[in-house]
Formats: sequence, C-alpha cells, structure tokens
Amino acid sequence: MQKPNERLKGQTAIVTGSSTGIGAAVALALGRDGANVVVNYHSSEKEAQEVANQINKETICGEAIVIQCDVSKEDQVQAMFKQTIEKFGTVDILVANSGLQKDAPLHEMTLKDWQLVIDVNLTGQFLCAREALREFMRRGIREGVSKSLGKIIHMSSVHQIIPWAGHTNYAASKGALVMLMESICQEYAPLKVRCNSIAPGAIKTDINRDAWETQEALNKLNELIPYKRIGIPEDIGSVAAWLASDESEYINGTTIFVDGGMTCYPGFTENG
Ligand code: NAD
Repeated sequence: MQKPNERLKGQTAIVTGSSTGIGAAVALALGRDGANVVVNYHSSEKEAQEVANQINKETICGEAIVIQCDVSKEDQVQAMFKQTIEKFGTVDILVANSGLQKDAPLHEMTLKDWQLVIDVNLTGQFLCAREALREFMRRGIREGVSKSLGKIIHMSSVHQIIPWAGHTNYAASKGALVMLMESICQEYAPLKVRCNSIAPGAIKTDINRDAWETQEALNKLNELIPYKRIGIPEDIGSVAAWLASDESEYINGTTIFVDGGMTCYPGFTENG
C-alpha cells in the first residue's frame, strides 16, 4: 500500500460508485495521495462513509466527503458536481467508475436490463464527463496545482475488446466507452484535458463473486489469467492515482489494461 504523500495536494476528485470494490480502492489511493475526495454512492451510505472516514484518517492534506447520486440521472449528476464545487471550489479529477451487470443470453434479455446497463455504464459516464469538462473549462488551468486542465478516467473493462457471451449489454457498454473516451481526448486535449480509461481484468469484488467464491471457480478463472492470480481492487487504485497525477502527464486517449495478461489470449498458449 502506498504511503500517504502530497502528489495530488490541492486537487479534488470525484470517484463514482466508490462505496465498494474498485471505486473504494481508487478513492483511498487518491486520498492517500493528498486529493480531496468525493466518495459517491448510489445506495450504500454506510460503506461510503467508512471509505471517507478511512481517507480522513490516513490523508496528510486532503479531505473526503460522501455524496449520494445515481449517475444515470442528469439532475443528480449536476447536483453532485454543484455540491462538490461549493465545498472544495472545483473538480480536478473525475474517476467515472460506477458500473453494473444484468446478465442474460441475448435472446432472453429484457429491454429493461439492456437499458439499465447502458444507462449506468455508458450514459452515466457521459453525464459525469460532461459536467467535469464544463467545470474544467469554467475554471481554467490552475498553475502550480496540475499541468493539465483536468483529468477524466473512465473505468472500462477487458470486455471493451473481449466479446462476452451472456453479458452482451455489459460488453456493448464497455466497447462504446472506447469511443467516448477517445473522442473526448481528441476534442478537449487541445485545452489540456487528459481523458483515459483503465480496463481491469478479473478483480475480486462483489460484481464477479461467482467467479472467485469457490476454489473450483477460481481455478477456472486462473486459466484466463497468464499471471495466475485474480486482481485486487488496490491493483486498480494505484494505477488510477498515478494516471490522475502529473507523473503521467503525456498519457492521453489511452486505455491502460490492468489484467495480469488476460488480453493476451491465454487460450492460445499451447495451441500453436
Ligand atoms: P462493485 O459492484 O463493487 O462496484 C460498482 C459500484 O457502482 C457500486 O458501488 C455501485 O453502487 C455503483 N453503482 C451502480 N449503479 C450506480 C448508479 N446508478 N449510480 C451510482 N453508482 C452506481 O463492482 P466493481 O468490480 O468494483 O466495479 C467497478 C467498476 O469496475 C465497474 O464499472 C465495473 O464494470 C468495472 N470492472 C470491474 C471488474 C471486476 O472484475 N471487478 C472488471 C472490469 C471492470
């Protein structure tokens, strides 16, 4: 675990869906690096407060608060940004992490489940990115705080490139994120906005409990991971904190795969 430092001192980050899993680890990593952090939650207020308490305990220069918001609702996203700006003055970093799965074979998938996944995983990312861009442009560059006007990090998935039978709505939402992220980069990089994605492989969280809960399931999962271990949320947190910092200043319009090699087609290892 990274020791508390001041790499993101004076910057404010919104991390959506950060009461649990990957988002919680990202919020903690940004907090340890000195950022003010908005721990956004949808329904788990208690867990969100625990994440904020942990940040406030460990940070040497930032502060964490919790804000409830359904990222698929325009008015709620706008209210979250407004509240954040009232409290901290601006937003420098957005980690659009919220996401969910509603799995079914495509011929049995309801429109409701298709729509929910697209609304949260794609429209939610659009709504949050749009508000972040508006705030970055309103505020202008903060000399001495960050070299960039602002940083947007989309939480994608290896399924932005690996098709996923039985999870078509999810894979379609993550595939679409590539073009959202790259188009934002193309459009706003001239203003010094950085927009990138992180594409996790299999990370041990509630979203994929079935895939790691039993040893049998874990063994099967490891067949898909050349590095032979399931990821942990902190694997993503450390990358997100670095990607939000000026240390990665020249990285823009890129997806960073954090997957233990999952996207290297391990099924072909002994198949040549
Ligand atoms: P998780 O279920 O712990 O986290 C998802 C978070 O999104 C939860 O906190 C949930 O409350 C929140 N959320 C859901 N609907 C929301 C809404 N309408 N508004 C606001 N927040 C909402 O699972 P996780 O694994 O930590 O997932 C985080 C992100 O990482 C997701 O985008 C997921 O697609 C992505 N991801 C996860 C894995 C993995 O293996 N765990 C792999 C690839 C990508």
